[in-house]
Formats: sequence, C-alpha cells, structure tokens
Amino acid sequence: MADKKKTEGELLADKLLSDHKHGGLLLSDKELKECSEFCEGYKSYLDAAKIEREAVIEAVRRAKEAGFKEFERGKKYKAGDKFYFVNRGKAVILGVMGKLDLSEGIRLAAAHIDSPRLDLKQNPLYEDMELALFKTHYYGGIKKYQWAAIPLALHGVIIKADGESVAVNIGEDENDPVFCVTDLLPHLAQQQMKRTPAELIKGEELNLLVGSMPFKDDKVSKKVKLNIMRILNEKYGIVEDDFMSAELEIVPQFKAKDIGFDRSMIGAYGQDDSACAYTALEAILNIKKPDHTCITVLTDKEETGSDGNTGLNSSYLKYFIDDLARAYGLCGHNIISDSECLSADVNSAVDPTFPDVTENMNASKLNYGVVATKFTGARGKSGTSDASAEFVGRVRRLFDKNGVIWQTGELGKVDLGGGGTVAQFIANLDMEVIDVGVPVLCMHAPFEVTAKIDIYMAYKAFSVFFAD
Ligand code: MN
Ligand code: MN
Repeated sequence: MADKKKTEGELLADKLLSDHKHGGLLLSDKELKECSEFCEGYKSYLDAAKIEREAVIEAVRRAKEAGFKEFERGKKYKAGDKFYFVNRGKAVILGVMGKLDLSEGIRLAAAHIDSPRLDLKQNPLYEDMELALFKTHYYGGIKKYQWAAIPLALHGVIIKADGESVAVNIGEDENDPVFCVTDLLPHLAQQQMKRTPAELIKGEELNLLVGSMPFKDDKVSKKVKLNIMRILNEKYGIVEDDFMSAELEIVPQFKAKDIGFDRSMIGAYGQDDSACAYTALEAILNIKKPDHTCITVLTDKEETGSDGNTGLNSSYLKYFIDDLARAYGLCGHNIISDSECLSADVNSAVDPTFPDVTENMNASKLNYGVVATKFTGARGKSGTSDASAEFVGRVRRLFDKNGVIWQTGELGKVDLGGGGTVAQFIANLDMEVIDVGVPVLCMHAPFEVTAKIDIYMAYKAFSVFFAD
C-alpha cells in the first residue's frame, strides 16, 4: 500500500496526545500465550487460597520450595538470602536481601489476602422447623443478596477446649457437601421485593443451611441440631462450645474459571485481592539477588479497615523492618523513610452495563494493563494517600522503560462512592507509596472478573519494581 503522508495535524496528534491501546493489540501472540500460561498458576492459587490462613499456608509452601527460610531475629542476611515471617497464621512477610546496604531502603509490595465473606457467629448452630442452620456475621463490604442461593463452602479453624487446633475445609472437594443461604421463591416474594436492595436479604437472614436429618431418639428435642453436632464430633472431635473459639468463614464453593469464548478473562471468588497477592508473591519468589532488599507483605483485615494485629494499620510490618535493621546496627524508621511501596490492590474497571458510575476518561479498563491509582478515598479525597507527582513519575518511568502495560485509574465518579486500600497506612509510616493493581469487574461479588493480560502485567510491574 502506498505510503499516505500524514498531515501536520496527525503528526502533531501522534506527538502530543495520549494514545493507550488494548493490551491485546500491543502484545505479540507469544506474549499473549505467556499471559495465559501465567494465569494457570493463578487459577490454582485462587482455588487453594480462598481465606487468609490458606493464603499464608500456600505462600509459605511456595516460599520454602523457592529456598526461603523462616526469619531469624538478629541474623545478618547476605545478598540473595530469602526469608519469611508469619504473623499469627493470617499474614506473611517474604523478603529477599539486596546487594545494596539496607540503608538504601526497601522495595515493598503490599497486598491483602482477606476477602469479603460470611463469618460464623460464636454461637452459630440452631434448629428451626426441623432444619439446622448457622448464624453468620458478614465480613467486609458485600451486597448481601448476592450470597443467597449459591453453593458455599466452610473454611477456617476451631480451637478446642484443650487448645488443639482443627483446620476445617468442607465444600471444595468434588465429593464434599456444600451449604447455602436460602432465598424466597419469586411467587411469595412480593413483600420482600419492596424492600430496598440493601435489605433484600438482611444481615440476620444470612443463615446457612447445614442439615435436615434428625437423630432418632424421642427423648431429645432439637434432633436435627443434635445430629449435626454428632457428625461434627465424629469428624472433628468438637462440641458445641468449641465454636466460641473458632474462626469459620463461608466462601463461594465454585472454582476459578476462564471467562469468554476467547478465554481472555478469569472468574473467581476473592480476586480482590488475590489478583495482586498472587502476582506480588510470584514476583518475590522469582527475584534473584536484587539491588535493593525486596519485601512482599500479604496482609489480613484490609476489608474491615486494616485494624487488628494482622492488619496493616498495626505495627507488625514496622517492627519487622526494625528487627531487620537492628541486625546491621541501623534504625528501622530511617529505612522505612527511604523505602518505596507499591500498594498492590485492585481497582474497579469500567462496566459497559453500568457506565454511569465511572468517569470514563479516568477509570481503568479491562485489558489495558495494570492500574496505577494516584489516590483513592471519597468526598474530596478523604481517607487516602495521594501519591506525589514525583513518585508517580518514578513509577511511570519504571513501567515504560520495562514494557509494563499500565493505565491510570480512579475508583468511581467524584462523590459517587470511593474506597481505600492499605496505601494510607504505609504512607503514614513515612514511605513513598502508590496503589498499583489489577482492574476488576463485579468487585466484592462472589464471582469477580479480571483479564489475563492485566494479571500478567501486575506480575511484571512488581517484578521490575523489585529488580530496579
Ligand atoms: Mn482490595
Ligand atoms: Mn476490597
């Protein structure tokens, strides 16, 4: 085809105007295949790590395979040494010692491994109308109606009277039973459908159906409840009071799946924030002798505001860095002040069915790469860390130099909502930080959607950050 000379305006537009493209148009077929292959590992992780405790177990398992050793306080690590530190079984810090002096600062990636779900109450089991049910209290921000009439699994831990810990995981194996929250048939839902959507299923209606067969003995009342306790006692050796010292979490039973005829997307529970936890984990596991000391922290409690001793609004990360520093005669807070962090959390992608909630010049899109979110928050940027232009500029140069496909993103239209991440807590320690993560559709729903290109680009983003 004959070369058509570009007009002056076209040349000027090429030079001056922003022109972001769909990742599928930017990547070669070979690179697209790499994205897909990378996501096979991601899908297995999603199935294996639905709750924070399982995510810690999975991270430690993979870390040990990659040569990481349990952190020893006071030990002087050499360049390339790999270590991990588990905080109460619900958060984990993984580090690789850099070639540079620790006083040059740390490269930190921080993702969370808790996701919205239903937690069992401490006295959960009851029988009503000869059905056995569990009372629940939801965890994190959910649309309660989305949790009715879907198959649910039970994960967690029970601490028995003698202190023994029993791990629970029912519903994930093909042969396991599952559970569900019941909903009304449409025919009888005329009154229910007049409720506001927030109340369509009320908090105290999120009751989990767990059994219906009675224990055959005329002398006892509540025969169905007794029969459930009999089964649980046989399987786990527990009695009813053991629920008081348990953390049992109800999560969707379904497995991670490809979405679309083109298999370009992934549907699964907990992608907020497994999409970033997995990619930040893989990045730290695969880094070899970096210049700066690199750390991935997989934290708990983000979905309830990061408070608590396993959340990033506590001091455990700060104390860890302090421990690391002291072995070299350094002061922890100096290192923190000279460190940089990618707060690895998801952003909400534009949804063509609900375009009104996003301002589409500034919202992230599926397949446009990893999202760098300068600020989150709500109502005039409240409750956020607003990354400095200088640090955004630094991250921009880093990504552009290394072929990371990335985009900017904002969590919804001004004054329409908003949200926060762990970025503000990291920033409050006096560290440079920006949110970098994967765009997601249906965020906080039992089935969340991401694009494979974006998952891979998140991995690449964390990897080049560590290697820089
Ligand atoms: Mn998140
Ligand atoms: Mn979230």
